[in-house]
Amino acid sequence: MKGICILGSTGSIGVSTLDVIARHPEQYSVVALTANNNLDRLFEQCLKHRPVYVVLLDQAKADEFTLKLKSAGLTGIAVLRGAEALEQVASLPEVDSVMAAIVGAAGLLPTLAAAKAGKTVLLANKEALVMSGSLFMQEVTRSGARLLPIDSEHNAIFQCMPANYCAGHAALGVRRILLTASGGPFLNRALSDLHDVTPDQACAHPNWVMGRKISVDSATMMNKGLEVIEACLLFNLPPEQIQVVIHPQSVIHSMVDYVDGSVLAQMGSPDMRIPIAHALAWPQRFDSGAEMLNLFAIGQLNFVAPDFERFPNLRLAYQAVKAGGVMPAVLNAANEAAVAAFLERRLPFTGIPQIIESCMERVSQRPADNIAAVLEADGETRALAESDIKNRG
Ligand code: NAD
Ligand code: MG
Repeated sequence: MKGICILGSTGSIGVSTLDVIARHPEQYSVVALTANNNLDRLFEQCLKHRPVYVVLLDQAKADEFTLKLKSAGLTGIAVLRGAEALEQVASLPEVDSVMAAIVGAAGLLPTLAAAKAGKTVLLANKEALVMSGSLFMQEVTRSGARLLPIDSEHNAIFQCMPANYCAGHAALGVRRILLTASGGPFLNRALSDLHDVTPDQACAHPNWVMGRKISVDSATMMNKGLEVIEACLLFNLPPEQIQVVIHPQSVIHSMVDYVDGSVLAQMGSPDMRIPIAHALAWPQRFDSGAEMLNLFAIGQLNFVAPDFERFPNLRLAYQAVKAGGVMPAVLNAANEAAVAAFLERRLPFTGIPQIIESCMERVSQRPADNIAAVLEADGETRALAESDIKNRG
């Protein structure tokens, strides 16, 4: 029986993770659940999975939740509060695996704590890796943590890598990675329409149901940009060896192209329970609850080259990873600020890449040689992005 901590249990990935775990109660026991909102969902999760710890970010919610547990007679669950408690539960001795499923930079320190503590880290929170880059990978190597990718593309690549491959080691014989992308809801929209698209239109992803931030990232293709950076780090390849391929059906989740001309692909329904179950059961396999792939119903698979004019964020992400240093953290922070503003209707959709590019031009490049430097660049960029957003009126 393995103990698991789920950082961000009330989100889309958190819910799918608990769904898979519920199918295999003899293999996993839930030690800790953490959330920032949606107390009703968290309460249902507590009823069903009986964690030992729950972490909420703010005091008022923690107090409210404690009362809720008490009045339902649910005892034996400790309610902790604050960002430090996230790091604490991610490194508990009774925790074997940590599902890193907080969205954005807020997940960095707890995910890093899990890596430092040598846990099996199931990594969904790509922003944490993009920001901290090789610092994160060094911690994984130093502590002997195991890093298993949850992002469907990276999980696919992991499955197509040589059997003796282990994250962070260059894989011999790999020529390039073909990173697939659906192209999101605006793949074929007239460019002149993009200025006026609404948050709900941007979040209406054709194939996947996800949290709102990553849904907007899919519409701008920043999600793929972050994934290019994620792939460079996880698989130790330069950006020149990562080719983005638009594949609107989302059936192939990515491919690995070998020097002998073999191309290995991983396919499946667009259901995040597949990569989640893969990582939870690894190196074995178990049922995820996903539907069997019906190739006859799908009929055909299409592939298109990405268009950097339609998706300037993809160009900016390649630029950031090539620049190195704090630039990936700057890219990420500017994007988080711009996406939040777009979701709050303070910024048009087409303003997102403009804010990011302007931040990347103005924040001074420096080495990302410690976490404090990364967090400083993150804070500086957010302040700059916010003032840009305000100044646009
Ligand atoms: P979501 O918005 O549905 O859930 C986010 C979770 O994090 C929630 O539990 C929320 O309460 C918690 N949270 C939010 N802000 C927080 C904060 N400041 N401090 C602590 N907790 C906080 O997001 P999601 O779609 O589940 O995505 C989670 C992560 O997984 C993201 O990094 C995303 O890029 C990645 N991911 C998601 C999918 C998907 O299909 N949803 C696929 C691949 C990768
Ligand atoms: Mg993905």
